[in-house]
Amino acid sequence: MIDGQGRSIDYLRISVTDRCNLRCVYCMPPEGVEWMPHDDMLSYEEIIRLCTLFARRGIRKVRLTGGEPLARKGLAQLVAGIKAIDGIESIAMTTNGIALADQLPDLLAAGLTAVNVSLDTLDRAQYAAITRRDKLPQALEGLYAALDAPGLRVKLNCVPMGDNDEQLVPLAALARDHDLAVRYIELMPIGLGGDLPGRTEEQVRAKLEEAFGPMAPCDDSLGAGPGHYFTVPGFVGKIGFISAMTHQFCHQCNRVRLTATGFLKTCLQYETGVDLRALLRSGAGDEAIDQAIAAAILQKPLRHHFCDAAGQREDERRNMNQIGG
Ligand code: SAM
Ligand code: SF4
Repeated sequence: MIDGQGRSIDYLRISVTDRCNLRCVYCMPPEGVEWMPHDDMLSYEEIIRLCTLFARRGIRKVRLTGGEPLARKGLAQLVAGIKAIDGIESIAMTTNGIALADQLPDLLAAGLTAVNVSLDTLDRAQYAAITRRDKLPQALEGLYAALDAPGLRVKLNCVPMGDNDEQLVPLAALARDHDLAVRYIELMPIGLGGDLPGRTEEQVRAKLEEAFGPMAPCDDSLGAGPGHYFTVPGFVGKIGFISAMTHQFCHQCNRVRLTATGFLKTCLQYETGVDLRALLRSGAGDEAIDQAIAAAILQKPLRHHFCDAAGQREDERRNMNQIGG
C-alpha cells in the first residue's frame, strides 16, 4: 500500500524472538538481559494470520530476523507457512549463521529464498571479543553452507565499528571469490550502538579502493532493501553499503517491522505504530486488524533523525535484539 508520504510499502521484517546465542557489543549487553516471556511473543499461527492481512495490503517480501531467528524452534515451519500465503513472493532471513548449517536443509525445503549472514571479522579472537562468544568456526560453516545451496541468494552484513578496521578488506575479498554481496552497515545510535565509533561509507570505500582499485556503482539493487552496490574489477560478487547515517534513504523506504511481541513498528527510530497483538488477542476480526494496519502505515514517519545532535533527538532506547534489526 502507499503510505502518507507516497511511498510504496511492500516489505515486512518480522522479528521472531529477542533471544540470541551471541552478545554483539553494539546490540546486546554482556549479561543481565531480561528475556520477553514466551507468552508475550506471537505464536507462528498469529504471525501467519497477520502476514496474510499484510499480503492483502501489498506486502510482497518478508524477512525473518530477531534476536537470532534460528534460536526459535521449528522456524522452517513458519517459513513454509509464510511462503504459502497468496501474494508473498520472497521469504528471506537475517542470521548470525551459528545454527545455519544444521537448519539449512529444512529451511530450503520450506522455501527460503535468501539469507543474510552477519559477520564482522574473520579473526577468531576478534570475533570472540565482538560477539562475546568463541563461535567463528560455526558462523563460517553456516556461511559456506549457504554459499553452497543452489539458488539461494546470499549476502554478508558487516558493521564497521572501529575495532574491525583491519578486517574490512579481508571480508570484502570473500566477494572476490564467491557469488556474494558483502555489505557494510553504518552503525546506528540505537541502544548500545550509540556508544561506539562507527565508520562511514566513505571511510570504508577508501580502504577498499586502496586494496582493490576503483569500484563502479551498479544499479542492481539486489533485493528489497536500502543497500546500494558496486562492482569491483575481478570480483565474482559485489560490495554494498547500507548507510543510514551518511546517505539517508528514508524517502525510498519501503518497509515496516513487526516485533516479536506483535507491535507494528513503522520506523526503526521511533516507537510509532500499533499493538497488533492486543488486537489479535482481544478477538478482533480481520477487518478491524486490517484497518489498524492501514492506519499505522499511513502515519509512517517521513524520516529518521539519527543524525541530529544527541539530546535533541528522540532515540529508540531498546536494543536491536528487541526491535529486530
Ligand atoms: N541475529 C541476527 C543477525 O545478527 O544477523 C539478526 C538480528 S541483528 C539485530 C540484524 C542486523 O542488525 C545484524 O546484521 C547486526 O549486525 C545489525 N545491527 C545490530 N545493531 C546495530 C546497530 N546499532 N547499528 C547498525 N546495525 C546493527
Ligand atoms: Fe545476536 Fe544479531 Fe544482536 Fe549479534 S546482532 S547479538 S547475533 S541479535
